[in-house]
Amino acid sequence: MIAAIATLGGMAFILAVGLGIASRIFAVETDPKITTITGLLPGANCGGCGYAGCSGFATALVAGEAAPLECKASGADAIQEISKVLGVVYVPKEKTIARVFCQGSLDKAKVRYRYQGIEDCNAAMLLGGGAKACVYGCLGMGSCVKACPFGAISMGPEGLPRIDESSCTGCGACARKCPKGVIELIPARQMWYISCNSHHKGKAVRQVCEVGCIACGLCVRNCPEQAITLDNNRAVIDPEKCSGCGICAEKCPQKVIHSRSEDREVVALSKG
Ligand code: SF4
Ligand code: SF4
Repeated sequence: MIAAIATLGGMAFILAVGLGIASRIFAVETDPKITTITGLLPGANCGGCGYAGCSGFATALVAGEAAPLECKASGADAIQEISKVLGVVYVPKEKTIARVFCQGSLDKAKVRYRYQGIEDCNAAMLLGGGAKACVYGCLGMGSCVKACPFGAISMGPEGLPRIDESSCTGCGACARKCPKGVIELIPARQMWYISCNSHHKGKAVRQVCEVGCIACGLCVRNCPEQAITLDNNRAVIDPEKCSGCGICAEKCPQKVIHSRSEDREVVALSKG
């Protein structure tokens, strides 16, 4: 009995020593730069860089397969620090902000049926493209809200997402999650945007929504900077040309053109 216990003990000791040696021989060294850079990244694992989480992105950075600016969620200071660790030249990036390109609220946009399924826009989309009669309109189930790693989006009582600019990092997680492509990133310096995603012509728009862009072109004709064009029946503002005068918004008969400062007031009020 004693001999058996001694034999087993001896075998356990030999195995433990063997495993200890093997773990040293086969240990994979982690580059300390990866650890440092992972600590500098926001830790949101939003996927905006295209890698599996912040540590995956840090590994790609150290391997020279990615560039610091590919992280959409890091601020300028963090990008600068990461560039220092990598020994690369820091070039500031332009900050972007998410915007909702739809104003078809529950009282303004028609619905085709009453949806009673899972509260998820991608699930709602499976039922004939969702309940909204406008195929381009926001479905209002808040998948973008759940996707935002920074808590920058909430659903307003009108059934549309509201973006809190002070929390939005421009990572684009909401835009990637939205099945309707209703959320887009615009440069933070662009004050005006067209709050409609429709590519339909005027009559078709009016049949489904009271407040959609009817592609009348009044904004295009009245913009003193020629900053607006119609792209497949949808007005688009060129941020390079827009001077922020707001004449387009005054002229728009549908009141589709919004200023981000107006939005900020709405979000501040909704926060109470
Ligand atoms: S913006 Fe897109 S994801 Fe967000 S509630 Fe509307 S349809 Fe859903
Ligand atoms: S004026 Fe308004 S409705 Fe007409 S094209 Fe411009 S954004 Fe659309």
